[in-house]
This record gives sequence, structure tokens and C-alpha cells, in this order.
Amino acid sequence: MGDGLSAQGAETTPGGLRLESALALLRHAGQGEPAAPAGSPAWLQAVIDGLVDLSSRDPLTGLANRRNFELALAREVDRVARAGESALLLMVDIDHFKRVNDTLGHAAGDLVIQAVGQALAETVRPMDLVSRIGGEEFAVVLPNCHSAFGPTVADRVRSRVARHQVMLPDGRSVSVTVSVGGAFAPQWVRSSPALWMQRADRQLYRAKSEGRDRVCLEPSAQLQVSAEEKGLLFAATPSQDDE
Ligand code: GH3
Ligand code: MG
Ligand code: MG
Repeated sequence: MGDGLSAQGAETTPGGLRLESALALLRHAGQGEPAAPAGSPAWLQAVIDGLVDLSSRDPLTGLANRRNFELALAREVDRVARAGESALLLMVDIDHFKRVNDTLGHAAGDLVIQAVGQALAETVRPMDLVSRIGGEEFAVVLPNCHSAFGPTVADRVRSRVARHQVMLPDGRSVSVTVSVGGAFAPQWVRSSPALWMQRADRQLYRAKSEGRDRVCLEPSAQLQVSAEEKGLLFAATPSQDDE
């Protein structure tokens, strides 16, 4: 039948590659069949592209997954260090989500997670990356976001979720709030993804402890540069010390 993702297709793959499991995964994920003839280089490329897509996406929300997020964060750290642009990282966690599961069931909880993910994606610019990095935790990387806009952007994310009514299959609706913690990448130092995440996480923790449904941003990236990041700065320019 010309199904490019069938087991038959795998048998025609040059070099005797065993792709049955990969093809089954792609079929399960609802990936369409490659238009190229089974076994051709274009067909193989389509299979690889499908696997890359699958391994970088969260299956519940369709958003970027944690692996993809960490890659994007590392790229952004590098870009900020080279170009000196301002970039913001937001960590977003649904408030009292356990209650949603406990009162409405796990399936309703899943719908809420999907709806929050969609609301986040609709609130930010196409160049921003929204990821689901844990159960009911999301992260947003906003490249080229000036610090003056940080509070507005972060609060738009928070209020968009709070206003959204999630419709459940039984006709009921539910709304949730999120807490948001944010930090800018320090522009004059090469930070690391882990340190940047720690800073944003600290602010998320603060938002939770100050009552939830709120945004906490690190006051000033410059003042908050840690000793470890200063070490990274000097490590990046050893020749200056040698002169
Ligand atoms: P807090 O305001 O402090 O964040 O409270 P919380 O209840 O949201 O916090 P906690 O992190 O303790 O609870 C998260 C819950 O999310 C626990 C777990 O059962 C649930 N959860 C994790 N992943 C999923 C998922 O994929 N689907 C559903 N329905 N629930 C999930
Ligand atoms: Mg959580
Ligand atoms: Mg939570």
C-alpha cells in the first residue's frame, strides 16, 4: 500500500537497518507517512526528523520537553554572552495542582495541564520557547527581552492563566492559578543554564511562599551575579591573567 512507515518499509532500508521499533513509535505518535519512496535517503531523513521531533516534544501538551528546553537554554546563555542581549527565563508552576487531581481526577488534571500549556504558548512571542519541564511545571525562555518589559510579560502570563476557564467533558469548568519566578541572564558574564535556572527557581519559590498567583522576578541581574559565575567569567578569559 506504499505505507512509508510500515514494517515492510523497514525491510527495504539500505544497509539492513532495523527500524521496526522506530517506525512503530512514529505510527503511535500519529506521524504521517513520508512521501518519499520507502528506503530512499529522503525517506530515511523523514524517519530521523520524526524521531527528533518525538524526542524533543512533551507528549501531553505538544510543547518542547525538558531536553529541548535545556538545549535552548544553553544556546541562549551562549548568545547572551556573545551578543550582550537581555534574555528572561520564567519558571511557571500551577498552584495547588494536587487539589485538582484529588477533587476532579487525574484525567481532568491532564486537561488542565494541556490548557495551561496552550495559554502560555498563546501569550508569548513566536520566538519564545515554552516547555513543559515537569508534571505541572513549565518554563519559558524569552530571548531579546529587555529588563524593563520583564514584569509586564511575566504578569501577562500569570493573568492569562488565571482568566482561563478549562472546560471538562462533564460540562463543568475549572480554573487554576500559577506562580511565576523569573530571572534575566546576566549580560556581562557567561553564566550556565543550571545557575540561570537556580535563580529563576529561587524566585518561583518566593512567589509560592508569598501566597501564590503572583510573579517574583530577580531584582537586578547585575547585583545577583554569584561568585561561581564570576569564576566562569575569569575562566573564559585566562589570557588576561597571564599578561
Ligand atoms: P504548589 O502550589 O505548592 O505547587 O502545590 P501543588 O499541589 O501544585 O504541588 P505538588 O508539586 O506537590 O503537586 C504536583 C502534583 O502534580 C502531584 C502530581 O500527582 C501531579 N502531577 C504530576 N504530573 C502529572 C500529570 O502528568 N498529570 C496529572 N493529572 N497530574 C500530574
Ligand atoms: Mg510543582
Ligand atoms: Mg504546583
